Amino acid sequence: MQYQDYEFKYDKSRRQICPLSGGKDSTALAIYLKDKVPNLEYVFTDTGAELPETYEYLDKLEAFLGKKIVRLNSDKTFDYLLKKNGNYLPSARARWCTAEMKIKSYERYIGDDLIESYVGIRADEDREGYTSNKDTIKPRYPFQEDGIDLGGVNKILEESGIGMPKYYEWRSRSGCYFCFFQRRIEWIGLKERHPELFERAKEYEKAGYAGDDVPFTWIKGMSLEELEGKEEEIKANHAKRMEREKSRARGKHLTDVFKSVVDDDGEESSCIVCDL
Ligand code: SF4
Repeated sequence: MQYQDYEFKYDKSRRQICPLSGGKDSTALAIYLKDKVPNLEYVFTDTGAELPETYEYLDKLEAFLGKKIVRLNSDKTFDYLLKKNGNYLPSARARWCTAEMKIKSYERYIGDDLIESYVGIRADEDREGYTSNKDTIKPRYPFQEDGIDLGGVNKILEESGIGMPKYYEWRSRSGCYFCFFQRRIEWIGLKERHPELFERAKEYEKAGYAGDDVPFTWIKGMSLEELEGKEEEIKANHAKRMEREKSRARGKHLTDVFKSVVDDDGEESSCIVCDL
């Protein structure tokens, strides 16, 4: 691949780490760096609430890399942490899940070592990734350094044979099955593909609490039961928007069309740690 025809500079005095989210950008980055950075460590932080498709995708990547992906588990389960947080379920405003289930295990793994940590933010994106408060971690953004955009990432995934994660057919982001950043159509996708996980999310909702005696809902102002009542309407609206977006963005990968439609919802954005 043309991208590999130059010498990629990295700090040899530091541990080289590529954190993976199970999403397409960090996966493409792992592939991109495979032959550029020897001794690169691939690390996935498992929240214990990941989608089955995420594990399949990681296994596929692991086989391609020919190297073990270190899988870190939070030393506490979600249920334990939920109890510790007074049954106060995580939300965009009270996002204890990311700190407790992702960041802590990653920081425990790297300890106080000097690290170069690779982030899969693309050249066409205007957002920041997770930057730790630890001054031992130096973040690197190879896609931005080398001008690799969405088309470049898709090409890396296609040429490697890894392709897109399967969940991209119905969901735009990696992360927990109950992630509150999901849009309505993605919740419906969860119900259709993983009804048992949808039911589990409903159970959490019944047990949850959002402060001041307000019942918790994963979606702002709508319970999952109410969502089920609007399923057909949501699907029909989504189908119309998909058609419009497909004719507007001809040649775009279907999963990217889906993501644009979902992103356009004007609801909360995604998690900068979990979605890469
Ligand atoms: S994927 Fe969503 S629910 Fe899971 S840790 Fe990240 S922000 Fe929290």
